[in-house]
Amino acid sequence: MATGAPKRVSERARAASEQAALQIIRVLRDSGFTAYLAGGCVRDVLLGLSPADYDVATSATPDQVLQLFDDAHEVGKAFGVVLVRFARGRLQDREGRPMPSASVEIATFRREGSYSDKRRPDSVDFCGPEEDARRRDFTLNALFLDPFLPGSMEQQIIDTVGGLADLRDGIIRAVGDPEARLNEDHLRALRAVRFASRFGFEIEQGTAAAIRAHARCLTGVSNERVGDELRRMLSPQESVPGRRRAIRLIEDLQLGQPVLGTEASETVNPESGALAGVVPDSDFPTTLIAWVHDREGLQNLSADLTHQVFEKRAHTLRRQLVLSNEELSAFRAIAEGLVHLENEWAGASVAQRKRWASSPWFEGAIVLLQARNNIANIVRSGRESLANDGIGLAPEPWVSGDDLIAAGMPPGPSFRGRLDRAYDAQLDGSARSRSEALRVALEDEP
Ligand code: ATP
Ligand code: MG
Repeated sequence: MATGAPKRVSERARAASEQAALQIIRVLRDSGFTAYLAGGCVRDVLLGLSPADYDVATSATPDQVLQLFDDAHEVGKAFGVVLVRFARGRLQDREGRPMPSASVEIATFRREGSYSDKRRPDSVDFCGPEEDARRRDFTLNALFLDPFLPGSMEQQIIDTVGGLADLRDGIIRAVGDPEARLNEDHLRALRAVRFASRFGFEIEQGTAAAIRAHARCLTGVSNERVGDELRRMLSPQESVPGRRRAIRLIEDLQLGQPVLGTEASETVNPESGALAGVVPDSDFPTTLIAWVHDREGLQNLSADLTHQVFEKRAHTLRRQLVLSNEELSAFRAIAEGLVHLENEWAGASVAQRKRWASSPWFEGAIVLLQARNNIANIVRSGRESLANDGIGLAPEPWVSGDDLIAAGMPPGPSFRGRLDRAYDAQLDGSARSRSEALRVALEDEP
């Protein structure tokens, strides 16, 4: 199962998570421990963005944390992380109204030993915040915030790695020696791309050079983690310029082949080609197929040959990125839809065009089509007029299987064809009422 779908968090859920984290920090401090907000939430707050979740780092050991909170359980105690849950209503907002449920991860300050499996450290030692900051990937992710320190937000920051300056300057910089940090976990290459593209930041030269030099090592990272990162970068949650920038960075840093499993035959310019047609709503499969289209120069192939290439790539991508069944089907449907639009639109019936135009793959196929030839404009305006013909692209069908049964037809394999003919007649206006459509359905096939 793919797990990396980007989180969309409501303001109420965010507020509950923040309240929960503050409450936890208060309890830990009252018990004599050090406790801070840590990692991504600190970065996001400083950037004026709303964090998806709030993580706490503390000097208390996992056992001590477990003793302090009721609804707490370890999430890999060996790594020093405990999840504390506040059920709905446990927390209240300023007006005293119950807040939604919230969960907060509490990680004990730790240094990590070597990474022989390139994913998980072999050993964990508990330590202080400075060393904990040094195990984190990038300086902007290695900041702590003490919410109980007086003063401005910046005065509440504990920064031992120069993260504040990098955040201000818009720089993604590895904590410590970039080569060594990348070697511990090559997924960090993609994380650097994700943060750089999300925030419009630059990857610091030394960090970028290390990523480029070891780009091929990304193949050693589990496909699931790579897929999750890519899915996060190329989903509608990220802005269109952010998604284009992610692709540009991946290609520039020579990560395209290890990520997608195939070599590029063309230099990708996300401002032109199919990628230029990606819009805010374009989903992950659409952005992915547009990227493959551009990097393999498929605009020079016929729709049929393009389809064949996509079919091959679909299998490679499924493996490389651990695509879900839905993602794979969406990718393949767009590839097939391209053939319909490019080869068959002009000669298709009104009903057929309407069926295509209301298919989930339509927008994705248009993204590809607009990079290939001027048929895209014809199809787009065709769709527009079909949508405004007084019937619409996908009206509620007048006739259902129940209607056929009520009219005395025994259920059977002919139903599908009868219902399709009735719906086609409804779509193209040859049936103007429910009873006319029913008559079409009851007629035997001509
Ligand atoms: P997001 O907003 O995408 O959740 P994040 O920075 O919170 O970004 P997480 O994956 O939630 O990312 O991790 C939380 C923190 O843990 C990071 O800010 C970073 O300090 C640390 N971290 C996460 N993954 C790694 C990694 N692969 N290597 C080193 N540190 C990491
Ligand atoms: Mg996070």
